[in-house]
Amino acid sequence: MFQSATIKLTAWYLALMMGLSLAFSVVLYNSSAETLIAAYNHQRTAIRQQLYTSLGFKPTPGDVDELRDTEISAGQQQLLANLTLANIGVLIVGGVASFYLARRTLRPLEETLEAQARFTADASHELRTPLTAMQTEIEVSLRDKGLSVAEARELLESNLEEVMKLQALSNALLTLANQDKGNFELKRVQTGAVLKEAIARAQKVADLKKITIQNKAEDLQVVGSQDSLVQLFAILLDNAVKYSPAESVITLSTSAKGGNAHISVADKGHGIKAEDLPHIFDRLYRADQSRTKQKVEGYGLGLSIAKKIVELHKGAIDVSTKVDHGSTFTVRIPLAAKEDDEKSEA
Ligand code: ADP
Repeated sequence: MFQSATIKLTAWYLALMMGLSLAFSVVLYNSSAETLIAAYNHQRTAIRQQLYTSLGFKPTPGDVDELRDTEISAGQQQLLANLTLANIGVLIVGGVASFYLARRTLRPLEETLEAQARFTADASHELRTPLTAMQTEIEVSLRDKGLSVAEARELLESNLEEVMKLQALSNALLTLANQDKGNFELKRVQTGAVLKEAIARAQKVADLKKITIQNKAEDLQVVGSQDSLVQLFAILLDNAVKYSPAESVITLSTSAKGGNAHISVADKGHGIKAEDLPHIFDRLYRADQSRTKQKVEGYGLGLSIAKKIVELHKGAIDVSTKVDHGSTFTVRIPLAAKEDDEKSEA
């Protein structure tokens, strides 16, 4: 698809260049031919004058005109040859340049489409896994003539679990898709309220593992979307809980530097290996879970959603980590400007 689009765009660019070059050549040819004729006319008078004064010979206008016409047509032919050569040059160089320009124009589009296709394929694969599990369980149970009520209940419970996973996955995929559209409004938001709500969301799972969430963050005013920021810190806290041992401590802290709020979520979990670090923000990427004793649930979408939210806030997200010691995710987002305060008070 992109090959034919590149060829079409190359042809358009080249047609534009050739159109301009040919139009320019026609104008140049006409004006040069006129100058040539005027110059030879002037020369003709001078020759006749010279022949007459030096030789006393008065040539007929026909003799000199014939000479003039031969010279003019030779000059015109030379001009035509030069312009043809220049246009062939434009055709060759322009062809190469047009192809290069077409490739450059279409490459970002091609990359975006490729990324989308990859994402759709990965997402479909993720959706298929729980669906296949459900299908197999249901089929096996249906074949079992003596299925008891207890076994049927067990099947329904297992199916419900898979349905809930599918729901979580489709919600995460929808969040990513909606955020791509950029339907997002920035307002003045208090980080205190954001973190309080995010902690409330993570608290239940933290309690199950007897993990303490320590909130040492001061309340700062930033520019952002309250709901998205809550979602962002809920993801970071959820990960901190998931990847930390029981009875450990997760610490939230903030600092204001250079017009930005820096908000950190630090855990004492198993950390992230150097080879995984460049990929953890990629969609559907999950580091090898074999090091953790129990399987940790997830789809590898949390951090890509977190990154998307941070980018929409014109901020950045960084991680510092040490294997078997823990990780600290730090989010940087712009603080609300002072003038905004004054305007809103007025
Ligand atoms: P998920 O947690 O669903 O696998 P994420 O996108 O949230 O997906 O995270 C991607 C990967 O980054 C995880 O699979 C995990 O390996 C790693 N990771 C994220 N947060 C932490 C953390 N706090 N400690 C250790 N590893 C983490």
